[in-house]
Amino acid sequence: MNRRLFLHAAACAVLLLIGPPGADAADKIKVAASFSVLGDMVKQIGGDRVEVTTFVGPNGDAHVYEPTPGDTRKLADAPILVVNGLGLEGWMSRLEKSSGFKGTVVTATKGIKTRLMEEEGTTRKITDPHAWQSLANGRIYVQNIRDGLIAADPAGKDTYEANAKKYLADIDDVEKLVKDSIAKLPPARRKIITTHDAFGYFGATYGMEFIAPEGVSTDSEASARDVAKIIRQIKAEKVPAVFLENVTDHRLLDQIARETGAKVGGTLYSDALSEANGPAATYLGMFRHNIATLAAALSS
Ligand SMILES: [Zn+2]
Repeated sequence: MNRRLFLHAAACAVLLLIGPPGADAADKIKVAASFSVLGDMVKQIGGDRVEVTTFVGPNGDAHVYEPTPGDTRKLADAPILVVNGLGLEGWMSRLEKSSGFKGTVVTATKGIKTRLMEEEGTTRKITDPHAWQSLANGRIYVQNIRDGLIAADPAGKDTYEANAKKYLADIDDVEKLVKDSIAKLPPARRKIITTHDAFGYFGATYGMEFIAPEGVSTDSEASARDVAKIIRQIKAEKVPAVFLENVTDHRLLDQIARETGAKVGGTLYSDALSEANGPAATYLGMFRHNIATLAAALSS
């Protein structure tokens, strides 16, 4: 074998060892996601081709997050940033500025029909950011993330399309489960209390009434007057159960449950997933857990 042929064969052997693009960590597309729900979606759609960094992790509060110096470095490194938008990540523009981020921002809620909600303590209407709590919106998130990944990494188009297609089929299955479970509940029992108003899209899409004493954001506290009003409402409407959330303080709900006799129905995952070994480690796992918790508490 002459020297040139040998070098060529050696190079081919090295390529074989490395494998196809996307299989090696150094080749992966770095994608930053603002919070855990989006981080999971990017992993599902990006598969082996992406390396995902999530700023607000499991059980974290995306409304009031304080970015760390580590976040600044990670965002500076990423060519793609996936955000929810609709006012959820008020801290993101500061992080983008401090990191000198020059990549592409993918807004997962682009094209979603938003709902308004009343801001706590005012009559001002603001956009409800919790759009992911409807699986119908979840489909739009998936399409936006898929298209954002394809735009940034056209060579991965087939992979992203195939992964998104499978993911959308899984969303269909879980949505059927949610609808079937709610259909089995007596209509009078399809109303519950949660700690912050995160389930407006869920309620509007699937026909449940969620009453929240704290308003839209986790950083506002309910006034004594709000609590008294909620307690009257629970008694008058015979609301059967109150639910805790993984991202909020539960003392207020404990008090409401005590004073009304409504039962505490369990913990719902609203604005963050659980740890990997918890009951809601993925977006679809969150829906499976929440609907099972709701059904168990409201059917009896
Ligand atoms: Zn929230």
